[in-house]
Amino acid sequence: MRRFPHRPADTGGQIHDRHPEDGVLNRRLAEALARPAAQQPCWPVPERARAVVEQLQQADPIVTPSDTARLSDRLASAARGEAFLLQGGDCAETFADNTVSHLRANLRVLARMADVLTHATDLPLVTIARMAGQYAKPRSNAVDASGLPVYRGDIINSAEPTPAARTPDPQRMLRAHVNAAGAMELVRRFGGSEVYVSHELLLLDYERTVLWADDSGPEARLMSGLAHFLWIGERTRQLDGAHIAFAELLSNPVGIKIGPSVTAELAVEYVERLDPHCTPGRLTLVSRMGNGLVRDVLPPIVEKVSASGHQVIWQCDPMHGNTLQAGNGFKTRHFDDVVDEIAGFFEVHRELGTHPGGIHVEVTGEDVTECLGGASGIGERDLPTRYRTACDPRLNAEQSVELAYFVAEMLAGWRSDGRAGPDGRDLADSC
Ligand code: PEP
Ligand code: MN
Repeated sequence: MRRFPHRPADTGGQIHDRHPEDGVLNRRLAEALARPAAQQPCWPVPERARAVVEQLQQADPIVTPSDTARLSDRLASAARGEAFLLQGGDCAETFADNTVSHLRANLRVLARMADVLTHATDLPLVTIARMAGQYAKPRSNAVDASGLPVYRGDIINSAEPTPAARTPDPQRMLRAHVNAAGAMELVRRFGGSEVYVSHELLLLDYERTVLWADDSGPEARLMSGLAHFLWIGERTRQLDGAHIAFAELLSNPVGIKIGPSVTAELAVEYVERLDPHCTPGRLTLVSRMGNGLVRDVLPPIVEKVSASGHQVIWQCDPMHGNTLQAGNGFKTRHFDDVVDEIAGFFEVHRELGTHPGGIHVEVTGEDVTECLGGASGIGERDLPTRYRTACDPRLNAEQSVELAYFVAEMLAGWRSDGRAGPDGRDLADSC
């Protein structure tokens, strides 16, 4: 596969359309990036950001096209009901925590969760870490409680509460790339051959840099070399926005978070835009409804998308719809709500005869005290003890494995209902 844009060193960095398709891709990329883009930083000196983008266009990829293609195959199985997808890791990776001990702990907890899930069902498992690039965060407010520009992730600014530290700095994209390469090295070394990496497709100045032109599919597309799998977040899924248009151009498997405001009609629009060639597993719909809403909001979405004939992966994120503020001010989640949202998700799929294809969770292998509940009964007064997240609260190692046992039970129940094989229903309409 050839890098895109093609920029041979001996032409002074001029972009060359070596292949006829590159002109089309160039135009489509420029059109995508010209659309309104939510949640982007305002770089104080735009030329500096441009220079970093050009530098990163020459940088090494983090992942290989063959691994990404293998993940696409594995996700096709998950979409057909023949595999289960476990995705998880930090809410926000940080440069400071990009250490062997932290990364190994997170890989280890994912492996333990995967073991629990596999042993309960014999269903092949696909594991995707939120790792090696999960450095950009969407935020609900532009300023924090003290009136400073909000922390947007280590790839953009620093969490330190000073005006200088919070000023977006494009050089951080270079540091993010170096950190991601280091993390990927550890994933290869300690994660086995079957852990893939993912992050939120958020910061477009970063995402646009390490790309290949990919002519292998039904239409020429771009493959990101920055992660195997990318997802669009709840705050950047505007139909006319840059993130959806950029994801449409990618040949990587992609996800989109869908919160409780998403209607069945909107979900079908996402599916048609992001899976135009009806490729099983190309798109993962990540529902994050909250435990109180999932049983009501998800069924019409699953029904209408299934009727469209597209084979998506249904994945439950039981974290982001269940965030609450503890009495002592800590942003937290309760283990019981997390379990209950997954239970609701399984109930919906059991009712409709569809495959509950996976979970997407914020977990760490470290012994943090960020989420309430679980077997050791973390209470509000325990939260300050080891509350270390740079953004959202994560399940700790013990809570994560306990969650895996709950999910394994639900999955085993679903399997014993005879829903082991591919969905036998006729595929309707366009696909
Ligand atoms: C996240 O995954 O960390 C996140 C911000 O999720 P969402 O877009 O669903 O709110
Ligand atoms: Mn989060």
